[in-house]
Order: sequence, then structure tokens, then C-alpha cells
Amino acid sequence: MKMINSSNILLMAAVLLLSTNALATEFIYKPASTTEIAVNLQKVEGGHLERFKKPFEVQRLSKNIYWVSVANYNLTVLVGETGVLLIDAPIHTGKRVLKAIKVITDKPLRAIVYSHAHADHVGDSSVILKELGDKNIDIYATDEVRDALISHNVTLPAPVTKIISDKLVFEGHTFDVYKNFDGHTSDNTVFLIEDGGRKILHAIDLIHPDQLEFRSFSNVEDAIAYKNDIDYLLLMDWDVMVTGHSNLGYKEDVKFVQEYIRDIQGYIHQGHSKADFSVHLKSDTPFAWYAGYSDEVIDFATNLLAEKYREGREEEFDIVAKSHVEVLFWAMLARAL
Ligand SMILES: [Zn+2]
Repeated sequence: MKMINSSNILLMAAVLLLSTNALATEFIYKPASTTEIAVNLQKVEGGHLERFKKPFEVQRLSKNIYWVSVANYNLTVLVGETGVLLIDAPIHTGKRVLKAIKVITDKPLRAIVYSHAHADHVGDSSVILKELGDKNIDIYATDEVRDALISHNVTLPAPVTKIISDKLVFEGHTFDVYKNFDGHTSDNTVFLIEDGGRKILHAIDLIHPDQLEFRSFSNVEDAIAYKNDIDYLLLMDWDVMVTGHSNLGYKEDVKFVQEYIRDIQGYIHQGHSKADFSVHLKSDTPFAWYAGYSDEVIDFATNLLAEKYREGREEEFDIVAKSHVEVLFWAMLARAL
């Protein structure tokens, strides 16, 4: 057996360091292109404010699929043989979405699909229908999304006209429909399509590439189910993700969120083992005991999180990080995790 000498160890360390650095910088940033297909790990150049102020941006992802970004929202456009399918129609973006589609193709819009019942992502479908004056546009959603729109009294989006289950077929193109993503909302639906050899995922309000997650992980309904959603995203086979906000997403972006959540859970466990509940048993109201104890653990975990994640993104960390710790603290406490 060949002996490993000290120079070999140094070389191995250097290679490891290089590969770690490569991981952090491997995304390729280029201006959005309606014609050139983005290669693997390519994102759209430009800051968040710049993107927000533009009327819209279009990036081709495959032969027939396009990423469209309007204000701080992203959606998916599929150009079929004779017509166009749109996934999501975010609020206050309808007219600009139609202009973006016009840049891509002259074919008419034939279908709108809802990812979930939050009106901020689907609310302008009614504006689009009104603008086109066309009754020949199908509105697709799962029965869960339709039921959530009805039970939550969400009246802004156009009513669902076609119910989808495990597949969505549009002019010969087939999306796999995933209804098992229950963290953000119980009706959240993820779509996967293979087009031109590329596997494209439409997954909304799960990750924000190039950013920390939005407050309370996008006001997550169930933080533990959300953690499972993130793990599941990494088990699925896909190449590029259309997320609800920010930039194009890749598995590296999901891994960042997975590690961030795992770190928070670890820091909360450390906080529990350090804090002493009996110290907070002073008032006659039980709420005060839990408030004192939870504040101690949450502050402890947030401080540890800051040591790893705050540098270089101080403003966004100070806005959102404590809310991430809080929402995971209470979700973990309820399940004794
Ligand atoms: Zn949402």
C-alpha cells in the first residue's frame, strides 16, 4: 500500500479547498435572453432592485419553456404547437405578462395553471382574461387549489375550469404534477416537465435563490412539512427551477436552504440544553414562563446563526433570520423534535 506523505496531504487539502470555493462561485450570471437557452447553473444577471424596476425579463430555459420575471414574481411559459400555457399569474403583473409572452411568440394564450391559492401568485388571471376578452382560455388547478380558493374566499383569480391530478397535458407536452408539497400551503403544487432534454421544475415559495428566505420561510403554514419539502426537492431529478421570486434556482440553491434549516434546528437543540425552564417560573401566568424560556432559546440560536450566515448580508439577515428561528422553534416544540 502506498504511503501518504505530508506533501500529498497538503495537495489533497488544496484540492478540497478549491472544490469548496468552486461550489460557492459556480453560478454563471448573464443577461436574460429570449433566444439562447440558459446552460446549467446559469442565472440572470442583475440585482434584485434592478429586476424589480424592469417591465419584465424573459429567459429561455429549453426548446419550448421560458422563465418570465415581472416585478418580484416569476412564472413559467410553455409555447405549444398552436397556443401558450402559463403557470401562475401574479397580482398586478397581468398586462406585463401578456407583453412578455408577445416577445416570445405570436401564438395565443390558451391555458393558465395555478400553483397554489395565494392571490399574490394567481390573482391577475382575471385581468389577463379581461384583457384578452377571450373565453377560450382554460384555468387549470388541482382540486386542493380550487377548494382552497373557495374555502378561503379568494375571489380575485378567475375560477378554475379544469381539474388536474397527477399529469397535466397541453398540446402534447406533459407535466408531472406533485401534490405532496405541504409546507408553504397544503395545496401547493409543483410541476415537472422534460423538454428538449431538460428537466424543468416550477416550484413556488419554497426557495429564494441568491437570498435568505422570506420572513418565516415565506409565512410557512407548517415549518416541519416545509423542511421535508426541501429534502424532497433534492431527491427529485431536475435541472433548473422556476421559483416564485428572485432568480433561477438550482440544486445548489436548495442545498443552501437545507443546510440553513439543519443549522437552525441544531442551534435550537443547543439552546434547549443550555436554558433552564425553572428560571422563568416567576409570574402567575404560564404565558410568561414560555415567553421567557422561548426568548432565551430563540435569541441563543439566532446569535449562533448570525456567526455563520450574517456576514455580507447583514440587512436581510437582520430582517428575516429571527423569524426563521422562531417558526422552527414552535414547530419543533409542538412535535417534540
Ligand atoms: Zn404563496
